[in-house]
Amino acid sequence: MRDENCIFCKIIAGEIPSRTIYEDEDFKVILDANPASKGHALILPKEHCANIYEISEELLSKAVKLAKKLAAHMTKLLNCDGFNLLQNNGEVAGQTVFHFHMHLIPRYVGMKNKDLLNWTHEEFTDSEQDEICEKLKMNS
Ligand code: 5GP
Ligand code: ZN
Repeated sequence: MRDENCIFCKIIAGEIPSRTIYEDEDFKVILDANPASKGHALILPKEHCANIYEISEELLSKAVKLAKKLAAHMTKLLNCDGFNLLQNNGEVAGQTVFHFHMHLIPRYVGMKNKDLLNWTHEEFTDSEQDEICEKLKMNS
């Protein structure tokens, strides 16, 4: 339920202060302490789970529904021009706090961090892509 060494569990318990914009029985939504843009917020499930692999389908579904509501709400109030949902899993993927969270990042035309998600594409041959595709096929 709670990890004693987890900073987000401490924020959820109110032991570390945060700027909370929304709270219900399952989630607390706070402003990111190091925002990439005006209004950058984090959806934190109250139950401690480290990442996408650990969170239950039920709680994840609720988080995504909440993200949709907040995206609409924040876009209206911040008058932003676009919106990123971002969710990192594992150090190599950029995760620094190992309590599942979804970033809500309002985007503005002309904003400082315009290259926030700019990656250069990797080259794979057609046969490599075919092989990857075959390997990843999953039944519905
Ligand atoms: P990650 O890199 O794990 O996807 O994102 C972690 C985020 O949590 C970072 O954007 C970081 O700024 C934010 N963060 C880390 N510690 C705190 C804190 O104590 N309070 C708040 N509000 N945000 C935090
Ligand atoms: Zn935690």
